[in-house]
Amino acid sequence: MAENDLIKIKGIVTRAVQYKENDKILTVLTAEMGLISVYCHGARSNKSKYLTSTRLFCYSEFVLTRKKDFYYIKEADYIEAFFDIVNSVDKLFLGQYFLEVINEICVEGERQDGSLRLVLNSLYALASDLCDVKKIKSTFELRACVEMGVSPNLSSCRGCGRTDSEVYYFDVVNGDFFCRDCLLSQERERSISLENEAVGAYIAVSPSVATAVRFVVNARPERLFSFTLSEEAMKDFYSLSEKYLLNQVGKSFITLDLYNEQIK
Ligand SMILES: [Zn+2]
Repeated sequence: MAENDLIKIKGIVTRAVQYKENDKILTVLTAEMGLISVYCHGARSNKSKYLTSTRLFCYSEFVLTRKKDFYYIKEADYIEAFFDIVNSVDKLFLGQYFLEVINEICVEGERQDGSLRLVLNSLYALASDLCDVKKIKSTFELRACVEMGVSPNLSSCRGCGRTDSEVYYFDVVNGDFFCRDCLLSQERERSISLENEAVGAYIAVSPSVATAVRFVVNARPERLFSFTLSEEAMKDFYSLSEKYLLNQVGKSFITLDLYNEQIK
């Protein structure tokens, strides 16, 4: 688009940084243009008509103009805000973690339909108590990996190709699995004993967890949270999802640390 043309676009505010006395610089995730930086004059003033629509967690329709690397707000109307999240500290940290992950994995200038849908669905689930918070977190993490192009692949053992196994040894680096026989022969070669079910980068999970992972990878967005797991299996699913995402992104997140500290 040419400078000064008006553009109308929907997006969610994933970062809001105070600038000067009353201004804000926003990062906004849009389907069409990925992450964009948006400058908002006077957004922090109580009189600003953009006070709500430029807040973190707010999904708004923006009318923007572009000058150099920034977009400037001409109009902003909020469509949906997930402010109910702030009523609970653990949900607030988790919601912020979702946004932090989005800011890390999305880029400017590329369509991000899937990531936008994912974060909206996940924040909606959190705000409306759609299901267990841990399930929402794990599902978001796995699906974020799908959006990054590193889908976990639990279709067949990397060693022998078998499609089922009593125990799936999930590899958090490569995103696939070894069956027990193949992992044992691997570990024998490397003279490491299988003591704790999990060795190095492998997490041992049951077939039901493997089924849930495959479901989340392939589910239509509106069905994303429509699966069930026993309490025990959910623990493994939770651990697998978090470790896999952190391994793939290659960094930790302050908001995740705060969340984990909060729910201890
Ligand atoms: Zn095998």
